[in-house]
Amino acid sequence: MNINMNIISQTKMSKYENLIKIEKTVKNCNKCSLSKTRINTVFGEGSKNVKIMLIGEAPGRNEDKQGIPFIGRAGKLLDDLLKSVNLKRDEVYITNILKCRPPKNRNPLKKEINACKSFLDKQIEIIKPKVICPLGNSASIYILKKYFFDPKRISDIHGKTFNVKSSSGDMIIIPLYHPAYAIYNTKSKKILINDFNQIKHL
Ligand code: URA
Repeated sequence: MNINMNIISQTKMSKYENLIKIEKTVKNCNKCSLSKTRINTVFGEGSKNVKIMLIGEAPGRNEDKQGIPFIGRAGKLLDDLLKSVNLKRDEVYITNILKCRPPKNRNPLKKEINACKSFLDKQIEIIKPKVICPLGNSASIYILKKYFFDPKRISDIHGKTFNVKSSSGDMIIIPLYHPAYAIYNTKSKKILINDFNQIKHL
């Protein structure tokens, strides 16, 4: 291995190691009461060297059971959307704001987001995506506020492009409708498919 390759593999290694370290912390986290009702924590999935990060709200029942994000009906739609732009799951990174399931899949509480947000912030810092697609209202508002936008409701901002200068360089945020919402709403599903298509052109 030449020196350059050695440096590259060391960088990749430490990225991987950093994520593993945070995942371990998440597994043992009891910063909020969701730790009492969860079966598994759901940290995130995908390659660590990706350009696109998709951020959902919180694990649902299936995700809680298996510890993997987006594997239920919403996950199936997400897989179809990825396929439509010629991407596979392992070519993006998928995670959620909350790493534990809220009982009965209720919306995340502000205090739960506050307790959990540092994990997502670290994932973004390590992965350094070029494109972030927050899925749904909670994720979109959290991500846009993090980068100093004043977000409106998802129905006003879906599919729009927000350019951000982050510590790791230029980044684009595209808020999208949540797949779980779109499976029950034909109009939103069409909009989601159309918005998602933008990824192809980036
Ligand atoms: N909904 C989400 O927001 N995340 C998941 O992982 C599954 C469903």
